[in-house]
Parts: sequence; C-alpha cells; structure tokens
Amino acid sequence: MLTIAVLYPDLLGTYGDGGNARVLAVRARARGLAAEVLEVTIGAPIPPASIYLLGGGEDGPQRLACDLLAEGGFVERVDEGAAVLAVCAGLQILGRSFAIEGDASYPGLGLIDAVTTRGPARSVGDMASNVDGRLLVGFENHGGVTVLGPQARPLGEMVVGRGNDGRRDGFRATRLWGTYAHGPVLAQNPWFADEVLAELAGEPLAPWPSVADRLYEERCALLSTRQADGDRSRGRH
Ligand code: GLN
Repeated sequence: MLTIAVLYPDLLGTYGDGGNARVLAVRARARGLAAEVLEVTIGAPIPPASIYLLGGGEDGPQRLACDLLAEGGFVERVDEGAAVLAVCAGLQILGRSFAIEGDASYPGLGLIDAVTTRGPARSVGDMASNVDGRLLVGFENHGGVTVLGPQARPLGEMVVGRGNDGRRDGFRATRLWGTYAHGPVLAQNPWFADEVLAELAGEPLAPWPSVADRLYEERCALLSTRQADGDRSRGRH
C-alpha cells in the first residue's frame, strides 16, 4: 500500500498543490497499486508514509508549518526513507534557511543544502525547466530566491520563468524532489508523476495514456513558442 500524506494543507494549501496527492493515487491505482491519501492538518501527528507532499503557502503559515514539521518528527521519517515532493514554500522549508516577512531569515529543516533569501521582485508567471531533456511546466508565484549549495543538485535548468534563481529550478536528491512549479505540478506533468511513482513502486510503470498527456503537449508547445518569441525580441535566434 502506498501511503501518500499531504502535510498541513491548512497552512500550505494556497496554490492547490494538494492535487498532487490525487494524481499520484489515481495513477498508482491505474497500475494496480493500492494507494491511500492522508491529509495531516494542524495538531494531527505525522503518520508514517511512503511519500510526504508539501505545498506552497504564504510566509507566516510557512514558518508555522516548518515548526510543526520539526516538532513532529518529519526529519526522522525522511531519514528513515520516506520520500518527499516539496513545492515552493515546501521546497524552501527543506533548505537551511528561508526568508520570511521583511528580510528576516528563519532556520529551515536542513534536509537540502539550500538557502532562500528575499528577491528584488516577486517571480510570478508561467515557468518551464529542462529536466534531463524533458520540459517540466507549471506556474510560479514567490518572493524567495533559492541558492543551492555545493551538496545540492537542481531538478532542472530554467527555460521560461525564474525558478530558484533565474537559472535553475528546485532540487533532486534520493527520494526527494523540490520544485517551484505549481499546477499542480504532477497534474501538468504526467511523466514527472510517473517518475515519482516508479521510484516509490521500485519498478518501471506501464504507460497510462490520458488527456493529461495532450494537455501537457499543448502547454509545452505554447511555452516553447513564447520562449522563441522572447529569444527573438532579445536578438537571439
Ligand atoms: N512564501 C514563499 C515566497 O513567497 C513561498 C510562496 C509559495 O509557496 N508560492 O517565497
């Protein structure tokens, strides 16, 4: 049984990232894998899970979620082998420190060698990054700029939008994924959902074509056109 736990959707639910849990469960069941989704709200203990999902949120709730995760034994569960998919505020929480209201810095959980500070302007809009030759698409809305340290590997190289720092998006470590892409990212990128699932299942998955593939292709085509237009207006061909 795959246990998919959405952590603190009441704090980190601003951007609809809870949909990532539904996508994982639906795509798992379509392959004959049993899956359950648990929503862990404020005050509830953090249960054992195959994967924890952390979503985006505003600065204040993000800090509270970080405290609850630290107190609730989340790091220990990850050290024991649970997987994590972290989006935006969730990504920032897993780093060494992140910016909160104003320019103050707050300690993160230190699972990833990354530091988030306040950027000069919010990064808002469509985004796409190149992840091992495939486009990962979504939208971003954050004030933080994340710089990875030497021990962290990015998930993708930016094609459209800003991601971590204008050059790279997210991070990738064993059973840990981080990205700035909302969407929800697993709904918009079926190949990425299957990559996460295959790692949880410990085996490659049979293809499961759906309307999500066509929507993904349309989105990629749109963003590629926009990137080409941007390149032309900057004098690059
Ligand atoms: N509060 C964080 C920031 O603005 C994260 C925002 C988000 O999760 N979209 O950088």
